[in-house]
Amino acid sequence: MTMAVSTDVTLPKLVAPVFPELCIVCHALPDSSTKITKNSQHWLATFFTPILYLFGWSRTEIPICRGCKPRFYLQRWGRTTICWAIVIGVLSVAWPYFDDWGRLTKKIALAGLAILAIAPYIAFEVFWPRTFDTTAEGGKVTYEFASQAYALQFYLLNREHVTKSDIDFVRADGR
Ligand SMILES: [Zn+2]
Repeated sequence: MTMAVSTDVTLPKLVAPVFPELCIVCHALPDSSTKITKNSQHWLATFFTPILYLFGWSRTEIPICRGCKPRFYLQRWGRTTICWAIVIGVLSVAWPYFDDWGRLTKKIALAGLAILAIAPYIAFEVFWPRTFDTTAEGGKVTYEFASQAYALQFYLLNREHVTKSDIDFVRADGR
């Protein structure tokens, strides 16, 4: 069974990634590009210290055709909205039950509940990866591609900076 998990390439945060001159969605020659904004703060850190969310934003420009943009944005924002809707829904229902708890224990308990609630959603994200996504952690950014072929090209363009990758050369070469 082939699992459609994403192919990841990790670069240092300070390195500006070079993308193949191919649309991120359909891999045709792109006639446009889009900038995606990503917060590099750890989500757990922002949960406990929401003010951190104001910092650590970065922008990445990726090639895409005009025709593929609606699909890309729908997936990107649609999925993020679903995730937040689940978290907010669970927290608003659970909140009153933790009234007597200390402030910190309440936050920890609610974070645990939120993780449990989005676990099935996280499994969905792993097995049906987004066309493209990024995850920042520490001084590194991981670029996640649904297409292994696209990830390979990205890897080759940035290989001198790559700190870690899922590129499977055996499969990529078709041998
Ligand atoms: Zn396209």
